[in-house]
Amino acid sequence: MNELDVKRTATGWRDRPASQQPSYPDPAALAAVSSDLRSRPPLVFAGEVDALRDLMAKATTGGAFVLTGGDCAESFTDNTATNIRLKIQTILQMAAVLTYGASTPVIKIGRIAGQYTKPRSADEETRDGVTLPSYRGDSVNSHAFTPEARTADPSRMLDAYLRAGTTLNLIRAFTMGGYADLREVHSWNRGFTANPAYKRFESFAEEIDRAMRFMEAAGVDFEALRQVDFYAAHEALLLEYEDAMIREDSRTGRLYDTSAHMLWIGERTRDPEDAHVALLEGVHNPVGVKIGPTTTPDEIRGLMDHLNPEGDPGRLSLITRMGADRIREVLPPLIEAVRADGRPVTWIADPMHGNTITAAGGYKTRRFETIMDEIRGFFEVHRSLGTVPGGIHVELTGDDVTECLGGGEPIDEEALGRRYETLVDPRLNHQQSLEVAFEVAEMLKG
Ligand code: PEP
Ligand code: MN
Repeated sequence: MNELDVKRTATGWRDRPASQQPSYPDPAALAAVSSDLRSRPPLVFAGEVDALRDLMAKATTGGAFVLTGGDCAESFTDNTATNIRLKIQTILQMAAVLTYGASTPVIKIGRIAGQYTKPRSADEETRDGVTLPSYRGDSVNSHAFTPEARTADPSRMLDAYLRAGTTLNLIRAFTMGGYADLREVHSWNRGFTANPAYKRFESFAEEIDRAMRFMEAAGVDFEALRQVDFYAAHEALLLEYEDAMIREDSRTGRLYDTSAHMLWIGERTRDPEDAHVALLEGVHNPVGVKIGPTTTPDEIRGLMDHLNPEGDPGRLSLITRMGADRIREVLPPLIEAVRADGRPVTWIADPMHGNTITAAGGYKTRRFETIMDEIRGFFEVHRSLGTVPGGIHVELTGDDVTECLGGGEPIDEEALGRRYETLVDPRLNHQQSLEVAFEVAEMLKG
């Protein structure tokens, strides 16, 4: 074993129980892919990861606001330039609304370039008497309901790595090449159909334009506005993949999971003794943990002991997904426990995963109004305790899909079938995403 392997093994995740992992029929093929991945370049760089960690520290105290958005599950077939651009545009538009509307710097993070693995409620799925392994995301198997498609295939990890790399390449081109310049704010609306949120954004963009012209006339240097920092995050679920992406930073000797800037652990794999916690314990990235309504103060202290023992600001975010009907009751004692502990966390609201329902026709969906109610509850609880609502984490796409009910141009149960395209959870469409941003900007103003 070389020195890096010794360090990596020291994280000890292989000795811990690991939930939600695929079973690979061919261990030799898995070992070959892992070894191949280990030899490849990192997807993100330690300096970028450190910059995000510093920004996350600002969000802990209210000096910035985190906006994380993207697909529940990215798919290989949707990995096209148009889809990536529409998602980036949507997140940039939301960020502009939040930054300008609430005068708050926004930390822009995509659930993108690596969100290819999903936890499932059952290991198997049965249709018409046929039972097959569940779909676990494109980095593991394929969605089609055939034995071949559902067999876990390690070569998919390599495909995930390459697609994440090309996605990041396009994101870097968009955000570094002037496309994300705030003076281009009008052009981000191009390609979106006329709808109420679009019009609202258009008049908002005019306001920004005026402010820009004023600053230009006053001699402000615009170079800083030409480029935008955009970060990538995904759930660190597939342990073999994440482990193979760990690299040592030659400047500091620290380990980083170079598959993304930020990684999070899902509600189903967040047991402090689970392998997922052990894996992320060993790397220096900012990390998030999803916490649902059954989370106890002891579990949170356990997570802090493992993931942020020293209490470094910006290292640990707690992403609450309580459900709109529970958040006002279950969040306060958890915040009090963190406050009593003294180690800082960045509180982020995921208003999606506690609010999933099944509509007529069997569609898994969420109501826009319920999503907004959870965000409102999150703000209310933090405001009443004097703590900081640090950000939101939403599932969205830049397309006009019909997956979530309600919104300004309401989608009803009948309309759900029109463009229901998600492979796993329902996403806000472009218009609904902008509406969330306008509403949250109001909440941030206080
Ligand atoms: C998700 O973010 O898609 C997800 C599965 O969330 P959670 O772990 O909170 O259920
Ligand atoms: Mn999801």
